[in-house]
Amino acid sequence: MKINDYNFAGKKAIVRVDFNVPLDENGHVTDDTRIRGALPTLKKILADGGSLIIMSHMGKPKGKVNPKMSLGQIKDVVSKALDAEVTFAPDCAKAAEQAAALKPGEVLLLENLRFYPEEEGKPVGIDKEDPAYDEAKKAMKVAQKEFAKTLASYADVYVNDAFGTAHRKHASTAVIADYFQPENKMLGYLMEKEVQAVDNVLSDIKRPFTAIMGGSKVSTKIGIIENLMDKVDNLILCGGMTYTFAKAMGGNVGDSICELDKLDLALEIMKKAKEKGVNLVIGTDCVAGDAFSNDCNTQICSVMSIPDGWEGLDAGPDSRKAFADAIESAKTILWNGPAGVFEFDNFTAGSRAIADAVVKATKNGAFSLVGGGDSVACVNKFGLADEVSYVSTGGGALLEAIEGKILPGIAAIKG
Ligand code: AMP
Repeated sequence: MKINDYNFAGKKAIVRVDFNVPLDENGHVTDDTRIRGALPTLKKILADGGSLIIMSHMGKPKGKVNPKMSLGQIKDVVSKALDAEVTFAPDCAKAAEQAAALKPGEVLLLENLRFYPEEEGKPVGIDKEDPAYDEAKKAMKVAQKEFAKTLASYADVYVNDAFGTAHRKHASTAVIADYFQPENKMLGYLMEKEVQAVDNVLSDIKRPFTAIMGGSKVSTKIGIIENLMDKVDNLILCGGMTYTFAKAMGGNVGDSICELDKLDLALEIMKKAKEKGVNLVIGTDCVAGDAFSNDCNTQICSVMSIPDGWEGLDAGPDSRKAFADAIESAKTILWNGPAGVFEFDNFTAGSRAIADAVVKATKNGAFSLVGGGDSVACVNKFGLADEVSYVSTGGGALLEAIEGKILPGIAAIKG
């Protein structure tokens, strides 16, 4: 079922959102992006004349009640954002009466789902090595189903709008869907947008397609690189992984970040790219520093000959130009991971050159998806988030989707 086609009038909807928002030491919300992200879905339900049961996790309480991670702290912010009265259910497994009492237009916010170990379905207080672990896990899976069933009993319809947890098979993100008929479960608007954005870069590709993979290590990105190799025209590999490639090619990378056990993997990637006709773009020069700090001394040098005592901290001018060339002509762009240590203001030039080129290509009609952790922080730092086509809200979930993995939260609804 599509949310837009569903009339929520007179229905109770239980909606999984990602309200895992950052709080300051007084419990005040410091960034409400995630709350705002869910508003189109929540408002549609209320505007139709439905009532809302909102559920989310916050932080990692690991199956225990922790007042510092109580969703009660954000009740007023949610109420203001929805322009509606919000009642709070302090025990999400015992909210049946409160849910039953809801009238159209009313909202119930459940306590942090992860106060219950059943939400994640992992046994707590028992070591994986313990011989009793497997039994405990089995028992927990049964309890997880019961918990999901209880949550499901509160509502007529289930909506999942939490892309950030779509890669988890938790009670509220996937298991609960078993208790609703296909016509009574659906993705929310935010989820639909995320799924569409992923589809644009994995299936419905306009060419040329340039993917930019940065960040610190090749080992954490290998699954994505392998999946993209069959799809992209240009593959830019930048950031810390540059130096693993340079070393593999026989270069001297000085003190740069370098995965010595991944040199063969780097050569294998280069070979595969050649076989598949992918234009692999790896930086040729870098901005090297004599310490891992913003104020260190710097010099521009070839990535193949970085002096000992120096480390590559950003892409050099030739590399930036090569990156921009491969990006500006693209019609589909995926960017994950910075081209340098962008947290240091003196080493943002590589990431900035990429961001500028992505914005330029987007203005020329390209579809650009930025996502997966630090590249989002990067476009935000540059104030360019509104100038790319889509900034994903899901770090790990987006990365798994791009690796080609099925996300349980989406599969539970779409089958
Ligand atoms: P990731 O989480 O793998 O996407 O990595 C992001 C991190 O990579 C950021 O914190 C960057 O500071 C870091 N990074 C990017 N380029 C380099 C580099 N040349 N040396 C060390 N760290 C880097």
